[in-house]
Amino acid sequence: KVLKTSSPAINGLLQAKQLDCEDRGILVELKIETRLDKLKVPSWEMCRVLGNIIDNAIEATEENRNKYIKIEIFEESHEYKFLIKNNGKKIPENLINKIFEPGFTTKGEKGQGMGLAISKEIIEKYGGDITVSTNQTDTTFEIIIPFD
Ligand code: ADP
Ligand code: MG
Repeated sequence: KVLKTSSPAINGLLQAKQLDCEDRGILVELKIETRLDKLKVPSWEMCRVLGNIIDNAIEATEENRNKYIKIEIFEESHEYKFLIKNNGKKIPENLINKIFEPGFTTKGEKGQGMGLAISKEIIEKYGGDITVSTNQTDTTFEIIIPFD
């Protein structure tokens, strides 16, 4: 079982966010099952994407009692997959197709609405995709990046 990726930057980012979550009383479950050896996305860009999505997850759990964020990184049929799941405040159904648009935010003055737009642009540049889904309790972002 793999516990760390081959990228010190990504490992560091995940560890820093994990500590950040602990400070805020958010339970973190981190499951890394690949070393990401063939990841085409440079570490600094991958960190930017993961940072944006985890920060959103942290912000969404703010008013929850039993907060959690679950992160899974694995490979499946020549694709790296990143799942970032959190409970907490969900995106209203009618707005869900707007969240990747530059400038879209539900955070008023505190939001820039650029995090997801930039993340999507980065991932698509490398032939990948970011999607979101929700159920009763959770919001899940899925990043898929093909590798050779
Ligand atoms: P910002 O965080 O500045 O608002 P983002 O581009 O990062 O901009 O996110 C856009 C919007 O998508 C957020 O304002 C929020 O409404 C929604 N969103 C993103 N991630 C989540 C999440 N994990 N749970 C609920 N809503 C989310
Ligand atoms: Mg954001």
